[in-house]
Amino acid sequence: MKILCIGRNYADHAKELNNPVPAEPVVFIKPDTAVLKPGEDFYLPDFNSEIHYECEIVYRISREGKNIQRPFAFSYLEGIGLGIDFTARQLQEEAKKKGLPWTLAKAFNYSAPISNFNSVTNYPDHKNLNLEFYVNGELRQKGNSQDMLFDIESLIVFLSKYFHLKTGDLIFTGTPAGVGKVSIGDHLEGYLNGEKLLDLHVR
Ligand code: MG
Repeated sequence: MKILCIGRNYADHAKELNNPVPAEPVVFIKPDTAVLKPGEDFYLPDFNSEIHYECEIVYRISREGKNIQRPFAFSYLEGIGLGIDFTARQLQEEAKKKGLPWTLAKAFNYSAPISNFNSVTNYPDHKNLNLEFYVNGELRQKGNSQDMLFDIESLIVFLSKYFHLKTGDLIFTGTPAGVGKVSIGDHLEGYLNGEKLLDLHVR
């Protein structure tokens, strides 16, 4: 199983990190060892304390496919949920400055907490999915899928040109503005269309 992640998919988040709005999806990958299962807590890694949350809408792939055309894109999706793209921000900034890959900053152990997944059929309108993310009860991120620069169908078309999609693969669709650092003791909660899907503590 692989985790395909999209960076800078919301203009307001690209702006808050002083990044240009991309003309094509910005893609990176996390390995399966990055998954943190629902109900498990996140332990701050000892290599770095500047870990930022990025709450994102996540899709799960239903079947194998490559070079998928847009009219068929939805048929490759089965689950929808939320995830956090934990990012070691200092490491990422250093990598960006040097023009080096983000791998260490993005793909470390447990850097991808995920929720349980609901069936995509429960969400007929993929253009209107509301995401809300709270830290210690305080609203920090609020986004709507209509503000994605590349919608899920475009992402399936683009990603499947380069990667053979397989059953169970995950697509992290990018984060809206409001990212920030987590600290030990923080309580993180994510809502999709008003339903709480993510609930974890930072230890
Ligand atoms: Mg992200």
